[in-house]
Amino acid sequence: MEATMTVERIVEPAFTLSSGPVDAYPAVLRALSRTVLYDFDPVFQHFYEAVTDKAKVALRTAAPPVILHGEPVLGLEAAAASLIARDDVVLNLASGVYGKGFGFWAKRYCAELVEIEVPYDDAIDPAAVEAAFRERPDIRVVSVCHHDTPSGTLNPIDEIGRIVAAHGAYLIVDAVSSFGGMDVHPEACQADIFVTGPNKCLGCPPGLTLLAVSGRAWDKMKANPDAPRASILSILDWENAWRRDQPFPFTPSISEVNALDAALDLYLEEGPEAVWRRHALTSKACRDGIRAMGMTIWPAREAIASPTTTAVRVPDGIDADALLATARDGFGVSFSSGRGETKGKLIRIGHMGRTAQPLYAVVGLAALGGALRRLGANVDAGAGMEAALAVISNQ
Ligand SMILES: *Cc1c(COP(=O)(O)O)cnc(C)c1O
Repeated sequence: MEATMTVERIVEPAFTLSSGPVDAYPAVLRALSRTVLYDFDPVFQHFYEAVTDKAKVALRTAAPPVILHGEPVLGLEAAAASLIARDDVVLNLASGVYGKGFGFWAKRYCAELVEIEVPYDDAIDPAAVEAAFRERPDIRVVSVCHHDTPSGTLNPIDEIGRIVAAHGAYLIVDAVSSFGGMDVHPEACQADIFVTGPNKCLGCPPGLTLLAVSGRAWDKMKANPDAPRASILSILDWENAWRRDQPFPFTPSISEVNALDAALDLYLEEGPEAVWRRHALTSKACRDGIRAMGMTIWPAREAIASPTTTAVRVPDGIDADALLATARDGFGVSFSSGRGETKGKLIRIGHMGRTAQPLYAVVGLAALGGALRRLGANVDAGAGMEAALAVISNQ
C-alpha cells in the first residue's frame, strides 16, 4: 500500500516588517556571497582592519570598536561578565523586556543588584537615576536599554549618561535596535560599553555584535580577575584583533564581516542623517496612520515612541496571534509579536534598515487594517492610509 502524506506548503511572506531579524539590503545579501577567505590571509586581515575603521566612523568613536562573532546577546552577556566585578553594586534600569533581562546577567556577576523598574509602556525618568545615586552612592555600574524593542519605547540615554558620568560610575548601554536608525552614539551618551549590532537598523542578518568600549572600561575589565579570557564571552581577547598584524583569538564569522562591510558602506554613503530621516519619516507615517485607523500606539507618549519600531496595542476582543497570522497568511506581511510581558498585548511593525522606507508604512497599515477587518474589528483602514500618505507627501 502506498503511504500518503499531506504536505502543507508554507509560503514566505511577501514583506517582512519585523523588528529583528530584519529583511537585509540586497547589497548585503550580495556581500554574503563573497569568497570566504582564510582568516590569516593578509587580504582578510587588511580587510578586517578596514571594516573596523568603517564601524568606527559609523559609531563616531575615537577608538576602534570590537566586533564579537555572535549576535548581540553575546555582546550583552560579555559586557556583564567582563565589566561587572564581584564587589560591584549595579543599578539596572528596566523599562521593558530587554532592560529587565539584562538584570539577570548582571546579577550573576555583581555583589548587589539595585533596580528601577517602570511600566513597560513608559521610560526611565533621569530624576529617578539621580535619586538612586543619592540613596546608594556605592553604585558602580549602571545598565540601560536605549530602545526596548518589545515595547517600541526609548529611554533618555544622553541624560542618563550625564548623571552616571557625574557620579563616576560605568554605563552599559544596549543600543542594538536603535543605533543606525537614529542619532545615538557611544560618546554622546558617555557609554563605557555600548552594545549594538548590524542585524537591526544596518540591515544585516544576525550574527555579529559591535561594541564600543571606553578607555576606562578597558582598564576596569583588565583589573577584573573574573573577566573572561580564552572564552567565547571574552571582550579582552579581542582588544587588538582589529589590527592587521594581530592574530584572531578564534575564527571570525568571515561572511558576516563581509555583510557588515557592505552595510556600513550603504550607511555611510547614503549619509547617517539621511538614514535616520528615513526611519523617522516611516515611523511617523505609521504612527499617524495607526491613530487615524482608530487604534493606539503602545508607548505612553509620542515623545518616547521609537523611530525604528511602532508597537501597536491589540484592540479589545482581538487575539494577537490571530491578528499576526491573518496579516501574514491573508496579506503576506510578517510583523513581530510582543515578548514576555508585552506578548499578546501588542504587535510591532519594524522600520529598520531596508524597511525604513515611508511606503512600507502604508504596506504595514494596509495589512494590519485588512487583517483587523477580516477578524471583525471596526477600523478605518482607508483613513489610516490617508494619514500616512499625508505625512509622506508633506515631506
Ligand atoms: C534584537 C535585540 C537584541 C539582540 O537579541 P535577540 O533578541 O537575540 O535578537 C538585544 N537587545 C535589543 C534591545 C534588541 O532589540
